[in-house]
Amino acid sequence: MFKKRQTLKIIGTSLISLLLLPYKYLYSATKKIINSELTNEQKDIMFNEGTERPFTSKLLEEKRVGFYHCANCGAKLFASNAKFDSGTGWPSFTEALPGAFKTKIDFSFGMKRIEYHCANCGVHHGHVFDDGPSSTGKRFCNNGLCLIFRPEN
Ligand SMILES: [Zn+2]
Repeated sequence: MFKKRQTLKIIGTSLISLLLLPYKYLYSATKKIINSELTNEQKDIMFNEGTERPFTSKLLEEKRVGFYHCANCGAKLFASNAKFDSGTGWPSFTEALPGAFKTKIDFSFGMKRIEYHCANCGVHHGHVFDDGPSSTGKRFCNNGLCLIFRPEN
């Protein structure tokens, strides 16, 4: 009896994985490595929704005028005037350029957060929260490793 139940459980679990497989495949198929020079750490964040250690990004000190681009595909994502010091240890922005990102609800780590990813290439960038300091009320908390800053000449 016990054995039968266990077998059923195994069959059930495999069925669920089979059902989820096309979804996982489709989701990952929308994300492609465009920049072949991405490091493993960058790939872990962009493709596995990892998070860089806080206070490690060189971009935290970046104060020049310019634009922040996707480190994978180069799409323009944030203007420097939207950047602010949130004290969280990750580059933070009050707003993204129109159409730069798409979002989804992320339930990982027992929290409900809004994940956002590059609208052009699909890679993960960070999470957006509703406690921003400006009139938008938004705080885009971005992994610095997903961004490339290009100063305006
Ligand atoms: Zn991109």
